[in-house]
Amino acid sequence: MSFSEVIGGQEPAIKVLQRSLKEGRISHAYLFIGPEGVGKRLVARILAQAINCDLSAGPAQAGRDNLDACGRCSSCRKIENFSHPDVTWVKPGGLSRRIGIDDVRNLCHQISLKAYAGRKKIFVLTEADRMTAEASNALLKTLEEPPTNSLLILLTSHPASLFPTIISRCQILRFSPLPLKEIKDHLVSKYKLPSEEAQLLSRLSGGRLGKALLLRGKTAREERKKVLDIASRTSPTDDLGELLRRAAEIGKILSDFKRRLEEKLKKETPKEQKEMFAKEQIREIKEERKAFIEGESKKKTEEVLDIIIDWYRDLLILQEGGEEAWLINSDRKEELQMKAKDVSPLRIRKNIELIEKTKQSLDHHVNLRLSLEAMMMKMQEELKDVQNNPGTITGKR
Ligand SMILES: [Zn+2]
Repeated sequence: MSFSEVIGGQEPAIKVLQRSLKEGRISHAYLFIGPEGVGKRLVARILAQAINCDLSAGPAQAGRDNLDACGRCSSCRKIENFSHPDVTWVKPGGLSRRIGIDDVRNLCHQISLKAYAGRKKIFVLTEADRMTAEASNALLKTLEEPPTNSLLILLTSHPASLFPTIISRCQILRFSPLPLKEIKDHLVSKYKLPSEEAQLLSRLSGGRLGKALLLRGKTAREERKKVLDIASRTSPTDDLGELLRRAAEIGKILSDFKRRLEEKLKKETPKEQKEMFAKEQIREIKEERKAFIEGESKKKTEEVLDIIIDWYRDLLILQEGGEEAWLINSDRKEELQMKAKDVSPLRIRKNIELIEKTKQSLDHHVNLRLSLEAMMMKMQEELKDVQNNPGTITGKR
């Protein structure tokens, strides 16, 4: 791939990079900031390719004409296959899902060596915010005195978790969500998806191509279906038992997610690695891993609640005379239309408010299932208030 093939939205970052290539003034360290799934990794890879491409004039030479990767030469292909000796990807791993001191020490050593085949030694740190404090300190030294012909590219969707001293030593490039139309067109042209499916995925993605691709997976599709089924079944006549059952169904989606994540982490950590650590270290690592799983579970809960919020927003759109083409859940049009006639806009607004509040109150230590139960019970109470005081309802109903 080349810069010219990266789909819209990232032009500002790419322009900066191409100008630097043209002037032969590539920075020694970049920090790519932006949500997950908008192309940070892709642009990092293409930058590495453009710098080391056999067919380009090279970054040290100002005034080069070819400001892109060819994508076909041996160097470009090796970088694409992760087999280029001068381009290394550092990802969080191990028992604690962290980028640790050993990873960074290794990086600092490697980066000081001469490039084997390419023009620059390039290291890409994905999820740079997962660096431990020790690792961050070690990296700072390299950032303060970067070896010539080296390049560090740090990627993050959580810049607040990085040391400010690290941020200040990098050139920052921001990546934003992509226009939905471009995601749709890309899904149709590159992945050959039917137009309707591509439309739906682009809307659900919130502008993140990576998310749209994830949503094609079986688990993601089933999860969304379950959540929407629960949201659409909720009715004014539900009794407490039914509400709790629904909260439990959502709770199950979350606990299944947690179990899958735990299993995945277990598989990724070989037994020998565990045996290398002292007991004290194991305890510390386990704590960190627990925090990681809790953080991921919280993200998942937010995702599930966002699915419900999107459902309610769609209902409001229909009630306010909006067009079908504006719906996010375009695959459930008929159901939405029926439901829109049944529920008052006031109730929907209250529900959205409650879900937003629940989202804000989630933190790493809260019991997710209890929060969901409390949320659903509050929704029901609000509903009764609305029914008992119909005079308070504004709007058509
Ligand atoms: Zn090339």
